[in-house]
Amino acid sequence: MSDIARTIGWGFIGASTIAREHMIGAVRAQPGHDVVAVASGDPAHAQRFAHENGIAAAYGSVDALLADPAVQVVYISSTNDRHHPQALAAMAAGKAVLCEKPLALSVEEARGMIDAAQRANVLFATNHHLRNAATHRMLREVVRSGRIGKPLFARVFHAIWLRELVQGWRIDRPGAGGGVILDIGTHDVDALRFILGSEVAEVVGMSQQGPLSKNGVEDGVMAVLRMSDGVLAQVHAAYTVRHAPTGLEIHGDAGSVVASESMTTRPTGTVLLRTAAGEELLPVEHESLYVRGVRCFCDALGGRGRPAADGLDGLRSLEAALAIAEACRTGRAVAVRAGQSAHA
Ligand code: NDP
Repeated sequence: MSDIARTIGWGFIGASTIAREHMIGAVRAQPGHDVVAVASGDPAHAQRFAHENGIAAAYGSVDALLADPAVQVVYISSTNDRHHPQALAAMAAGKAVLCEKPLALSVEEARGMIDAAQRANVLFATNHHLRNAATHRMLREVVRSGRIGKPLFARVFHAIWLRELVQGWRIDRPGAGGGVILDIGTHDVDALRFILGSEVAEVVGMSQQGPLSKNGVEDGVMAVLRMSDGVLAQVHAAYTVRHAPTGLEIHGDAGSVVASESMTTRPTGTVLLRTAAGEELLPVEHESLYVRGVRCFCDALGGRGRPAADGLDGLRSLEAALAIAEACRTGRAVAVRAGQSAHA
């Protein structure tokens, strides 16, 4: 068998920053996988992106990329409003799909993507990177081991400065799915669900249209989530804070476990356990969050294991993020269906 025949070809829909900075490398780190095509709505941008990143084919449309026989897997990292139609098209063409969060702009659309993947019998996963962090995997292990007793509270610190490079549609195009709640809030919800093993049941929140906000898009939010196991989780996400530490804390009736500088795309951070026995810095073996995520996806593609976050995980994080947005808009507590049924 030739090398070409052995290569599993990835087509990237969206010539984006995340693709360039993390995902091309993450795919190429997997033996037998390569990025072979890229599509952008702007053909000149696709050409430039392909040239700069050593990608063989550049297309000005999704249909053209999907017609390329070298493409077996599609990674979608376009603006948020395009994930849904592009994923449906890729699945209809028989491609496995790894899609960026938020999966879509409505729960119905996200559910439609899961159904379409089932109908087409293709693998479908969500690129929630924070559950691949060694820090968060350690938090999950500690919670499961019972070392902090019964978890009661969680706090997520995810207020960052949005780099100028990616300040476009996120802060001025509500129609593109901009705003910090869908962008960072979905990740925060996913990390909490992953670590606690429970669902979001109810949310309250307030958002801010601060110094980066345009056209009504929120650039900061504080929310409180009641999880289906009774845990209260505080979430602070923002684009506008230059110097805040990030992290995720879980507080139980027998101890607290604290990940510091963990809410990031980089494999960094520490985990501290505090119990009656004192303080202990727990060992974490860092690895690129994206390399690990793509590895899980490739393993699942090969029939070994499951993706780090599947389509349902993407739907759940979207559902909770949309509930936070509604709570901020209306000033009311909003129930989340998945968490209510998990609670019942
Ligand atoms: P970018 O703003 O870099 O790219 C989004 C789209 O904008 C591209 O797909 C492209 O459209 C267009 N674009 C970007 N640069 C140019 C250019 N120079 N010329 C013409 N068009 C351009 O977005 P991000 O990479 O920040 O985010 C993309 C997606 O990935 C989002 O859904 C976001 O939520 C997600 N994301 C996920 C992360 C994670 O850790 N899981 C981290 C960061 C982002 P076209 O599609 O037409 O090429």
